[in-house]
Amino acid sequence: MVVESWGRFPHAPQCAHPVHWRADIAAHLSQLARKQKHTLAFGNGLSYGDSCLASSGHVLDMRQVDRFLSADWDEGVIRAEAGVTLEVVLALAIPRGWFLPVTPGTRYVTLAGAVANDVHGKNHHVRGTFGNHVRRLHLVRSDGPDQECSPRENADMFAATIGGLGLTGIITWVELQLMPIRSSRIVGTSIRFGSLDEFFTLSNELDPLHEYTVAWIDCLARGSDAGRGVYMVGNHALDGCLEIDPGRQLSVPFVLPFSAVNQLSLRLFNTIYYRARKSGRHSQVIPYAPFFYPLDKILHWNRLYGPRGFQQYQCVIPECHAEAAMLEILRTVATSGTGSFLAVLKRCGDVCSPGLLSFPLPGTTLALDFPRGRDTNNSLFPRLDAIVRAAGGRLYPAKDAAMRGEDFRAFYPNWEQLESLRDPVLCSRFWKRVTP
Ligand SMILES: Cc1cc2nc3c(=O)[nH]c(=O)nc-3n(C[C@H](O)[C@H](O)[C@H](O)COP(=O)(O)OP(=O)(O)OC[C@H]3O[C@@H](n4cnc5c(N)ncnc54)[C@H](O)[C@@H]3O)c2cc1C
Repeated sequence: MVVESWGRFPHAPQCAHPVHWRADIAAHLSQLARKQKHTLAFGNGLSYGDSCLASSGHVLDMRQVDRFLSADWDEGVIRAEAGVTLEVVLALAIPRGWFLPVTPGTRYVTLAGAVANDVHGKNHHVRGTFGNHVRRLHLVRSDGPDQECSPRENADMFAATIGGLGLTGIITWVELQLMPIRSSRIVGTSIRFGSLDEFFTLSNELDPLHEYTVAWIDCLARGSDAGRGVYMVGNHALDGCLEIDPGRQLSVPFVLPFSAVNQLSLRLFNTIYYRARKSGRHSQVIPYAPFFYPLDKILHWNRLYGPRGFQQYQCVIPECHAEAAMLEILRTVATSGTGSFLAVLKRCGDVCSPGLLSFPLPGTTLALDFPRGRDTNNSLFPRLDAIVRAAGGRLYPAKDAAMRGEDFRAFYPNWEQLESLRDPVLCSRFWKRVTP
């Protein structure tokens, strides 16, 4: 079977070697080491660029290693195999009054994928990253015995594995502390804002009062409209149902022969989305799925970008430079002749991750999706990189397919520590690209 990353760029189809049982992982690893030299575990391929692609083109497909091993529903602690998705965790946990402590914007991510990128969500300002809630994990390595790791046991390997880009060994299971809830519904409020300045004022006022916050930005808006968008906050309702929300799903059945995302469709979408929100504050109680996972409504939506695929650009800028740098980034994008369908802005908090190479830092993060153009990597991204560099920020490897090696090594000085703990058989295209 052939698999790809979410952005389908770089176009590097991977031959997926399926694993069914934890007990078989070591044998698969040594077989691939013999035949291909390098491999990498593959979760669900929801990383955008090349960090989930093996440098050899041969990945260990972990999707069938997906069983629950134990669950303590009094304490909200689960132990489950690497390939269990967040969707399955939610389906079992919600009726029992528990929720994921941290969730990214898609529920199809696997537990091991969430650990390897130390993913963050709309509540980073209160709960930090996924790794902050991992109690224990189990690793199979090609060069030594299996290891159980926790903040106290094999602590170096635990820290290197959280956000370790799948390079420290094959994660077989993860033990996670869930978060108690009284309702699966979210009391959400959306507020239209006219400028970045207004966003930061709203965020200062409302972030401390809410578990979840995020904003959408119209990144094509120029002049007096620049920086306009919609700010959304939410909390779990205090009473009501504990109900799984399967969400209504459509699907894009095949890769379109052209990109449906272009200047015209982008401008239309952004204007309609902005104008559909009336001014003022609007609150409503909604199921959790449309609040956390609006994009999951359309399966395989990445196919809308056509055969060339697309790239995400996600940076985080420290608090002191955030507003000025974000303004400069938005101006650069607005005048670049391309635009982003999705532009998500979020303030990160100061909860420290246990991971060595975790992406978030106290400040503001912006994520932009670009249809893959001839010049994005050579023209637009280097200009954005220069702004990020000057502001002391960094880029997110889970979304990246273009970062310069010297930037990665400056952004993540702990990379050498990870390299010293890397399993010699595991190597991604990303790691090969950014390390000397
Ligand atoms: C619509 C969408 C929204 C998103 N929103 C967010 C967000 O809000 N916040 C955020 O942080 N990210 C977000 N992401 C990115 C996504 O959460 C991460 O890329 C995630 O790590 C993907 O997990 P996966 O299971 O698909 O793993 P993959 O993408 O397949 O792999 C990711 C990494 O995990 C490693 N890995 C997988 N399985 C194992 C294993 N068993 N052992 C060791 N390593 C393993 C791989 O080697 C690779 O390095 C989003 C992605 C999409 C498509």
